[in-house]
Amino acid sequence: MTYVVTENCIRCKYMDCVEVCPVDCFYVGANMLVIHPDECIDCGVCEPECPAEAIFPDSDERATDWAELNRTYAAQWPNMSRKGEPPADAKEWDGKPDKKALFDAAPGEA
Ligand code: SF4
Ligand code: SF4
Repeated sequence: MTYVVTENCIRCKYMDCVEVCPVDCFYVGANMLVIHPDECIDCGVCEPECPAEAIFPDSDERATDWAELNRTYAAQWPNMSRKGEPPADAKEWDGKPDKKALFDAAPGEA
């Protein structure tokens, strides 16, 4: 099992999750984060820390569509272990539907 970052992280990117992860397995893209499934130790600490409620265990059906994307981009984006500055308009994007179309495959800055 692993934990998976899903749609509502897009453009919210609060990064509270990276502060609590004991194995630093978050990777950063231009407008969301992902979890490396082979590095995650399934501790579950990050799930309640996410203000956007974007993290789910891969056994949850809300994670299903996002598991492959996490695996793919965790191998391409830089590792992030410290919280950065969230986007100024993060709150406005929290909970907006259909954010998947806004996904940006470009790497972010760690
Ligand atoms: S805390 Fe949640 S919204 Fe913020 S970067 Fe982590 S997964 Fe994304
Ligand atoms: S479940 Fe634990 S190890 Fe996995 S990403 Fe969250 S905090 Fe890190």
